[in-house]
Amino acid sequence: MDIPLTATPAVAEISMTALLAAHDGVLLDAYGVLVDASGALPHAAALIAHLNASRTPYCIVTNDASRSPTTCAARFASLGLAITAERVTTSGDLIGDYFATHQLAGARTLVLGTDDSRAYVRASGGDVLPLEPGVDADVIAVCDDAGFPFLQGAELALSAALRRLDAGRAIHLLLPNPDIVYPKSSTEMGFTSGAIALMIETALARRFASAPPKFARLGKPAGALLQRGAARLRAGGANVARIVMIGDQLETDIAAAHAAGLPSALIAGVSRWTGARSDVAAPTYVLPSLALT
Ligand SMILES: [Mg+2]
Repeated sequence: MDIPLTATPAVAEISMTALLAAHDGVLLDAYGVLVDASGALPHAAALIAHLNASRTPYCIVTNDASRSPTTCAARFASLGLAITAERVTTSGDLIGDYFATHQLAGARTLVLGTDDSRAYVRASGGDVLPLEPGVDADVIAVCDDAGFPFLQGAELALSAALRRLDAGRAIHLLLPNPDIVYPKSSTEMGFTSGAIALMIETALARRFASAPPKFARLGKPAGALLQRGAARLRAGGANVARIVMIGDQLETDIAAAHAAGLPSALIAGVSRWTGARSDVAAPTYVLPSLALT
């Protein structure tokens, strides 16, 4: 039988046990894989217990910029997931690299996010401004949907960007967490920071149509967060050659795996695998469940 050159191979289903047998290190997304906003997801606690007991190198790579790794670890522990802070890297951890690359020490920064989001910016050298009308911001960092009044915060950030750009002055628009939505429970979705950035970008494009300002997107789908996680797996000196990324969103987790040159497994969450699409890369595997079968 002739197979057209453009044929897309089907994505194989794989069990968690077979996935672990074929790889020697694991990167795991948090929301939609291990947890949602209401608690731990099915089989997550047993999987983490197995990874700990079998000394399998693993790292959580989350776009969450609302919690420090320490805060993440405390929440995981409260949900029965024994994950230490050293095994967590977040998109908030990428803010420091951006500030260093762009020489932003002392930059006046408007932060939409939580206390931990502001702590990430301060640790990166930023001077956090109060969230109030009229501020003159060098940087706007949209880190999360929580920790401020959603609409009021979005409007203050938009207005701060407009004032700078109308005056012909540059501004850095920073989006550590590009996620549009996140799972609140098995039947509820929430909007998060990526949605706020899209609102601001759309509004700025009305004024600056010829060169619409865009946010710098630090977390997944860029590969940097996974490269950071992979480096951590290898830091112990172990030969961790075969690393796989497990995530629930094609547009972020699976795209980031491609960007980092890693194989990936998609578990049904925000995304469902319904066949190849032209707009996003396919995962290497589809993972029906975290169950160790
Ligand atoms: Mg997710």
